[in-house]
Amino acid sequence: MASIPSSNRTDDLQALQLFLDAPPPGTPEAVLACLRGTLASRAGGLPPHLYHQTVEQAAVAISITDLAADILYVNPAFEKVTGYQTHEVVGRNESILSDPSTPRSVYRDMWSHLQAKKTWEGVVVNRRRDGSRYLADLTIVPVVDATGAATHYLGLHRDITTLHKLQREVLNQKGLIESMIDASPSAIALLNGDGKVVLENLAYKKLISELGIPELSGYMLDRVRENVTVETGRGFENVEVRGQKPGRAERWFACSGSWFRERTGDPDSFFVEKEQDFLLLIIREITEIHRQQETVRMSALRALLAEEELVQGLRETLLGAIFQMEMPLNMLNAASSILERRSGDPALDPIRDVLLQALQGGRSTIEKLRGCVPSNSGGSFTPLNPNEILRDVLTLLTPRLLTEGVVVDWAPAAKLPVVAGKEHRLIALLRHLVENAIDAMSTRGWVDRELRIATAEVDGAVEIAIQDSGPGIDEAMRFRVFEPFFTTKQGKGHSGMGLVIAQEIAVEHGGSVRIALDYSPGCRVVVRLPVDQEGRS
Ligand code: FAD
Repeated sequence: MASIPSSNRTDDLQALQLFLDAPPPGTPEAVLACLRGTLASRAGGLPPHLYHQTVEQAAVAISITDLAADILYVNPAFEKVTGYQTHEVVGRNESILSDPSTPRSVYRDMWSHLQAKKTWEGVVVNRRRDGSRYLADLTIVPVVDATGAATHYLGLHRDITTLHKLQREVLNQKGLIESMIDASPSAIALLNGDGKVVLENLAYKKLISELGIPELSGYMLDRVRENVTVETGRGFENVEVRGQKPGRAERWFACSGSWFRERTGDPDSFFVEKEQDFLLLIIREITEIHRQQETVRMSALRALLAEEELVQGLRETLLGAIFQMEMPLNMLNAASSILERRSGDPALDPIRDVLLQALQGGRSTIEKLRGCVPSNSGGSFTPLNPNEILRDVLTLLTPRLLTEGVVVDWAPAAKLPVVAGKEHRLIALLRHLVENAIDAMSTRGWVDRELRIATAEVDGAVEIAIQDSGPGIDEAMRFRVFEPFFTTKQGKGHSGMGLVIAQEIAVEHGGSVRIALDYSPGCRVVVRLPVDQEGRS
């Protein structure tokens, strides 16, 4: 490919410039004399005929004219491109090549440059001797003498019809591909190896303004990286990403990426093959599907929790009954011991026998009841994100929070490690604590109703702080509230087992529930759950 004509053009120009600058300047005869090699060389001792040969043998069409554009000289390449022989064009104007399809404005621009002694470069439609048309990439250089006055014009042109046709085809194809990509409802961006967007469709630009995220591809890829590894050559498919403009409803997207390689157009990769990696990023909105899935998931969760509540209610009832029964049995036991000590009186033995029978009957009933207490150890431990659990809890309790006019300040840690847990058990634990907080603030006439929930990683554990602006818990009560069947609330649904169960669930997960001692006004409950080191990425 070293024979590309344009690469010779600079040499041609330099050679001719030197050649045309030679004295005596100005006359067409002198120029032609130069071409015949009659002038002495001015540079580097090169013989003048060398310039002549250079121009003659140049692959680009060269013509030299006077200031009226009348032709004085043309080289063989000019003859080849235009189809005119030298004797047919010398003395005639360059306009014999002009075709009416070239706009007049092009010539006006050309001549205003030439008159200002400036080089003009452009494309014109030329007509060959046989009438056929071709596209000429034309450069016209004014040749000036020692006094700076223009004496001649030097024209260089080449036929770029085929090149233009190819360029047009490429452009048409590019346009076609772009229209197809633009018609896609998914946002599409093509990223180079440095992560820079080199191509984007309309939906992508629209999404940037809708989400208010200028670096949309970077944002999406960062979210994708939180779930899967993104590296050259390794694609990913339908990774769910959340995007939200502050103050707007959250939106969900499925991101897919595929890698491909393309040969670069850099000069240094002309002979040696050099490839570049590109990532095609497709962002498909799935907000509606996600919303439907979420509705189904929350319904299933509600059903599961309702079932769990039922079981929990049964457990509480049975444990309550056992607790209630243990009191009289203890009394019977005490009475029987007293009678045993007075066993000298045979009249008392039948009473003691009855007592013992009652005691035995009672104990066996308690054992039967214990056997009926349903277990709560269902489900398996999986890595869970506490922020997501709290989101579910807040979603479940939204109707109640709205009814009670509670303002929620939800402050999740931006990055939180996972904990190993049973999802529905942790939901039950946190739901209970949030419900307690709502209950505390729902007293008639209580104005300040603010619930703040925050998460943080503290010393290898996730801490969930639930604090309310209610009346708080008396210092004397802070430990008693964890006692079974202890309650400060009277009425239906307050068995006094809530915090006991909450603590039981926390312990089951290797964690704890405590009431902050130094918090006032209101109440602050802190749940601590150990980080799942295995699930940590
Ligand atoms: P013209 O009547 O010749 O000119 C049209 C416009 O150019 C008018 O506005 C007119 O005022 C202006 N104009 C013409 N001649 C001059 C002048 N001498 N000084 C100031 N203004 C002028 N044209 C091509 O189509 N193809 C070529 O390959 C080509 N090569 C050229 C090479 C050289 C070295 C030079 C100097 C010119 C070349 N031209 C070429 C331009 C050509 O001379 C004509 O100007 C052009 O072809 C338009 O011709 P026309 O007969 O359609 O209009």
